[in-house]
Amino acid sequence: MRRSVYLSHPASLEHDTGSHPERPARIVAIEQELARHDWLGMERVEAPRVSAETLTAVHPARFVRGIEELCLAAEPTPVSIDSDTFVVEASYEAALRAAGGAVQLVDLLLSGEAPTGFSALRPPGHHAEPSRAMGFCLFDNIAVAAQHALDAHGLERVLVLDWDVHHGNGTSAAFHASPNVLFVSLHEWPLYPGTGPASDVGSGAGTGYTVNLPVPAGGGDALYASLLERVVAPLGLAYRPQLILISAGFDAHRDDPLADIELTESGFAALTGTMRRLAAELEVPVGAVLEGGYDLRALAASTAAMLHVLTAPDPPAAIDVPLVPEARLAAARLAEHWPALAAV
Ligand SMILES: [Zn+2]
Repeated sequence: MRRSVYLSHPASLEHDTGSHPERPARIVAIEQELARHDWLGMERVEAPRVSAETLTAVHPARFVRGIEELCLAAEPTPVSIDSDTFVVEASYEAALRAAGGAVQLVDLLLSGEAPTGFSALRPPGHHAEPSRAMGFCLFDNIAVAAQHALDAHGLERVLVLDWDVHHGNGTSAAFHASPNVLFVSLHEWPLYPGTGPASDVGSGAGTGYTVNLPVPAGGGDALYASLLERVVAPLGLAYRPQLILISAGFDAHRDDPLADIELTESGFAALTGTMRRLAAELEVPVGAVLEGGYDLRALAASTAAMLHVLTAPDPPAAIDVPLVPEARLAAARLAEHWPALAAV
């Protein structure tokens, strides 16, 4: 029987830089919650290390070596990369496993061994640009996994939806000029890292394949559901990806200390439902990769809410989601590059 997969590794717990919101207890909180639900029937898989070849398809070898050397130098005290990104010696192994888990997830999805899955490792990845670690992130796990889907599986179109409350500047940078990855980011605006305005639509051959959906502080379940169901889903149908990956941060939760978006657990479940319906309609697999989320209770509950929907045998039934003005404006704006959106 094909079962959804949950990828993890104990190395995620060793990346411990002291008092920091992106901390090992995040993984513990998620796993305690899932254990209470008997892991929702998921098969637990140990994340392998990413191979050098796969990692360097996104991050130059010199950058990877630099991260390794920084980690080696971080014994016995953490070394800072920027004002909020630190490493210890064990961070390198954790980072290799975090990227490796996302890559393994892609392999399991595309080989047909798993219908859906979640890579639950840290450090997170979506702020790490090809040659720059930042924002708690060392390697861009989901970008490495998406590139792997193109290189090793011969895919031509991957949709990466990033609903972490912060703009996924790393993933955006990795695929800014590529039509092979449609990168869609919903993020609070303005907020760290300051990139991802609606006007940034990609560059060169990738023009139109970067979609930023900035959301003002205070936006919540209704606005997010409308953007997903009325903008992202039609966009996905127009792009026809062969794989859907979700940068699943949970810091847009109303209880999160780092941002001011008001999503609830059921909001995250609804977003997951939209993506599962889209995947079912396209007959492609969908997987999620952990990004942020810093209130432990909200993180654990929201992850479980997502995974309830992700691991269910069938996607939830479609619901009527009102087109809010922000979604109407976004669709009108995107219609320049995506004519199908003119009909929204
Ligand atoms: Zn975040």
